[in-house]
Amino acid sequence: MENIKQRDKKLEEIKNKVINCKKCNLYKKRIYPVIGQGSHEAKFVFIGEAPGKNEDQTGKPFCGRSGKILDELLESIDLERKDIYICNILKCRPPNNRDPQIDEIEKCSPYLEEQIKIINPQVLCSLGRFSMEFLINKFGLENNNKSISENHGKILEIKISSKKMVLIPLYHPAVAIYNPNMKDILKKDFQVLKNY
Ligand code: URA
Ligand code: SF4
Repeated sequence: MENIKQRDKKLEEIKNKVINCKKCNLYKKRIYPVIGQGSHEAKFVFIGEAPGKNEDQTGKPFCGRSGKILDELLESIDLERKDIYICNILKCRPPNNRDPQIDEIEKCSPYLEEQIKIINPQVLCSLGRFSMEFLINKFGLENNNKSISENHGKILEIKISSKKMVLIPLYHPAVAIYNPNMKDILKKDFQVLKNY
């Protein structure tokens, strides 16, 4: 268990590494990398896919339309951004928001793993299919090859460096932009977080 100063320092080190990172081609077209934002002592770490246009222009995660929906969902369970930590699998924006590629995920995800280890939350919330699949494959649920439509809102146990954590797969907030039914499903799934 690290004290908050050590966490701040280690997260700052990651930030500096990401700012200088050229491990995959995405660094070439990014404006800002999006490292992560929120409490370094968060109980919940939310993990999206990759920065979009707004995020690339500001360096802040979920600051566009998906972010507005995310804020609404957090508010529905009395949480604010400052209470959680939020980041993405990829730190740089894929051109035209295309899907992340396997090699990009392989190269970038060690930063995410470090972030999770340093913050040491109780609960990881994946946002969307890519994030869910990455975490399930990475942290010991290989036999769980279910789709997000089956896994959303479930409490899955995972182990990260022999520490038990809970993974709660959630739909990506973007699915609710044009679909109020999906927002209701997301709201219901967010209620599951209240148990923590
Ligand atoms: N979508 C994501 O997955 N992450 C962001 O930061 C913004 C939109
Ligand atoms: Fe490095 Fe990740 Fe950016 Fe690729 S996406 S350049 S691995 S920080």
